[in-house]
Amino acid sequence: MADAFDELDFEYVSGVAEKAMGAIAAQRVPPTPHNFHVWFKYALGNPVALKRTIDILIAQKRKFDASTNRDLYTTYVGSRGTDEAVAHQVSQQLHTVLASAKQFLSTAITDNRTHMQAISEVADRTEAGADPRVLVETLMNELAKATKRSTKLEAEFVEKSRELDIIRQSLSQSEERARTDTLTGLPNRRALEEFFRAAQEDSMERGQPLSVLLIDIDHFKKFNDNFGHGVGDQVLRLVAKVLRDRVRENDLAARYGGEELIAILPGADIAVCSATAERIRRAIADCKITRRSTGQELPGITVSIGVGQFQPGESMEDLIDRCDRALYQGKKRGRNCVVTEQELEPEPERAAG
Ligand code: GH3
Ligand code: MG
Ligand code: MG
Repeated sequence: MADAFDELDFEYVSGVAEKAMGAIAAQRVPPTPHNFHVWFKYALGNPVALKRTIDILIAQKRKFDASTNRDLYTTYVGSRGTDEAVAHQVSQQLHTVLASAKQFLSTAITDNRTHMQAISEVADRTEAGADPRVLVETLMNELAKATKRSTKLEAEFVEKSRELDIIRQSLSQSEERARTDTLTGLPNRRALEEFFRAAQEDSMERGQPLSVLLIDIDHFKKFNDNFGHGVGDQVLRLVAKVLRDRVRENDLAARYGGEELIAILPGADIAVCSATAERIRRAIADCKITRRSTGQELPGITVSIGVGQFQPGESMEDLIDRCDRALYQGKKRGRNCVVTEQELEPEPERAAG
């Protein structure tokens, strides 16, 4: 399969590789093939989200330990790589099935022609006054042959349909994977954007409200530092589960970024959304967290939530930006709280000039 890097110029790629090796050495990341793939993309600056994440981690002086390196690979490289491999495999399978279906149809057509010809010969000979017993015998023979062949074709047809079903299944599985966050099992950013686009249109068409709540775990860095990234991941999964369990079936709970989760609530205005956010906040604060390996009880975790309502015509970024500002207010107020955009100070007027 062609690699996107194949298109790049030798000098340029060598420069990128050198830059990647420099960064890997500076951060003391073992240059394994997976890590190198991640850092090559970092040096390339693509995807932007990968570059941004690594820059933040570097700015926070985070250690690139095995778990962080694995996360970076699965989030930005691995899953996409796997999807590409699955897509390639599926396209190969489809190719094979289509080729044999073509063969199968052309056999069926040729068979049909042969039978039609044989039958029309019998008809000609009837007109010519041939022995009727011989004609009946010939006709019976042709019919028997036709039946045998069509039974065989039918069996082949059933087999091909089954193969197509398997292909359809693996296509929808790989589609599902491409839209799911591997750590939390929640829909990822891509799925969120798709969902929001449809919800936004629906809201404007029906004149119904649409609201969003943005969740950020409080002092999560400290939690990771104290108990390790693995326990942090376990907590993130727990928060994701609480969120998923607390929203309605037609809402969407998704992972927005690192330790930020989001829910889109079609049909909910800011008051309803804020009440839901409050229930989620309380449920998370009430969770008991125990370390799986030792059974040791860990300090409780809290979240801050920013809530906003969609204004017809605005972009998802603008709406989430208001939620983010409300969330920031929540952090300033001491965390473990829900703040709506209505509580925000009005944006300062830009100075004219
Ligand atoms: P605040 O209350 O202000 O939000 O403090 P904070 O420490 O949560 O905020 P900050 O944004 O500084 O740090 C977020 C931390 O979340 C940094 C990183 O260690 C952690 N984090 C982000 N993604 C993951 C992840 O997938 N797993 C784990 N375990 N931690 C993550
Ligand atoms: Mg954060
Ligand atoms: Mg946080």
